[in-house]
Amino acid sequence: MPGFGAVGYGPGGAGRYRAPPENPNVTDATEPKTMAWTRFGKKKDMPGGLWIKCESCGGMLFRKEFEQKQRVCGSCGYHFTLPGRERIALTADPGSFQERFTELMPADRLGFNDKVPYDQKLAQTQQKTGETDALIAGTATIKGIPCVLAVMNFQFLGGSMGMVVGEKVARAAELAAELGQPLILFACSGGARMHEGAVSLMQMAKTCGALALLNRKGGVSISVMTHPTTGGVTASFASVCDFLIGEPGALIGFAGPRVIATTIKKELPKGFQRSEFLLEKGQIDRIVLRAQMRDELARLLAYATGRDPVAAFKPAPAAAVEAPSVAEPIPEPPAEKPKRARKAKKD
Ligand SMILES: [Zn+2]
Repeated sequence: MPGFGAVGYGPGGAGRYRAPPENPNVTDATEPKTMAWTRFGKKKDMPGGLWIKCESCGGMLFRKEFEQKQRVCGSCGYHFTLPGRERIALTADPGSFQERFTELMPADRLGFNDKVPYDQKLAQTQQKTGETDALIAGTATIKGIPCVLAVMNFQFLGGSMGMVVGEKVARAAELAAELGQPLILFACSGGARMHEGAVSLMQMAKTCGALALLNRKGGVSISVMTHPTTGGVTASFASVCDFLIGEPGALIGFAGPRVIATTIKKELPKGFQRSEFLLEKGQIDRIVLRAQMRDELARLLAYATGRDPVAAFKPAPAAAVEAPSVAEPIPEPPAEKPKRARKAKKD
């Protein structure tokens, strides 16, 4: 299809950010009071101050402005991990999201004991985040096109996939098949949830099975992989959808780069396991800026549902975004002046 590539990606696109639309679904209970800055594998709770340090360029970001820019660094374009509810607010039409499957609750089937027993850890995390588990699913419209939306929440135990996450993904796929609507999955995960042992690994087969069912019924699925998407999530539902989209700079892989480098005893290529690297290798279909994600999803939904994609995606804003990344054309000298100069020489 025309224009289906790495469009809209580039640091020059930083000029076109929309403020997040107001959404009644976002409440204070889900608004993080502390920033769980999650350089992958490390987790720090920083006091909610006025300034935030960019993980990528080290620049200081004014929190209010940073949040208005959808948690993207204004200097280097680094896309920070976005809480699940904020993602829904940015993606769905205001007020259109109807949450489903809220009755599914996680359970400590193994009596797993870490530093804190798993059941206690679940209760603490539920209280802290206001969520029951690491995935929020439901129905929504994007630019008026109905779809089923499932969003992972990294703030809940690193977005790990246990029985509830797997079941919600599977049910979301079944719901999409039943309603005849496209399914959009936002992945953001550290992988399978170790506290649930083999049960968490079973979710990989279950989610893929449900997506295969959706596929057989003629349904369309879109996977958006955000920073970070790793482990059993990459190895299952996030990688088997019809369209695979990555956010800029997102770490997407199975085992982490350090583990691989230590195992194979070789230096890894530059940008290994990042979206840009994976696009080059053909693992993902395109990279989409967070600021353009809603437009791009609307366009794909329009394609998938036989609507007019042009109506869902106005080309003018895209051109405005792409413009700064293209080098300015060298202006041609005026046509008349050289003639005069030549005449002057002849004289
Ligand atoms: Zn930065």
